[in-house]
Amino acid sequence: MNKQKALIIIKPDGVQRGLIGKIVTRFEQVGLKIIGLKFEMAGENRVIAHYPETDVWFKKVGERTLTNYAKKGLDAKVVFNTDDPVQIGRTVKKWLITYFQESPVLIMALEGYDCIEIVRKLSGNTIPLLATCGTIRGDFSHDTIDLANEQNRPLRNIIHASDTVEDGEKEVNLWFTKEELFSYELAGEKFMYKV
Ligand code: ATP
Ligand code: MG
Repeated sequence: MNKQKALIIIKPDGVQRGLIGKIVTRFEQVGLKIIGLKFEMAGENRVIAHYPETDVWFKKVGERTLTNYAKKGLDAKVVFNTDDPVQIGRTVKKWLITYFQESPVLIMALEGYDCIEIVRKLSGNTIPLLATCGTIRGDFSHDTIDLANEQNRPLRNIIHASDTVEDGEKEVNLWFTKEELFSYELAGEKFMYKV
């Protein structure tokens, strides 16, 4: 059993709405360890490097739009001028670059056993409307893909959370230098508990 690392970013909407304290608490109270924490402007190049530049990722994002539009009987061509999921994904990434630079973001590196599964569970579904009550996105937002896309913006869903062990390592190293990461022991670390 290995400890995993995850990167959390409180996105500009979470910061602007004064939710930093509430969100950090959710990760602390399940016993995850904060090993890095900083507040800064994201910077265009870092956001470009943060979200993948692969057709696989663009397609996943584009297909999320198409599935949502099909459910609601909407035509993606009206907003995107195309129904190619890769092209839609590319447009969403451009919107993400603007969104991330609206205000400072809180960047947090976490460590713990099964850390990735835990941060995704606490975050909730990418689409806030579908995120379960009790999750961060479910409790603090209600955005939908069609509303977001109609306004030429990405989903405003409060936080980013790494979604694979590999991405967790990569993203922590992208946003933090070695000197900004700390190794220390939490009280009761041997017997992780909720407080
Ligand atoms: P994140 O990586 O930010 O934690 P996620 O892993 O839940 O979110 P991804 O598929 O990686 O979801 O998408 C990254 C971000 O892009 C989402 O959090 C959301 O803000 C935005 N996004 C994704 N798909 C769409 C879409 N179809 N329309 C609008 N915005 C989208
Ligand atoms: Mg993601």
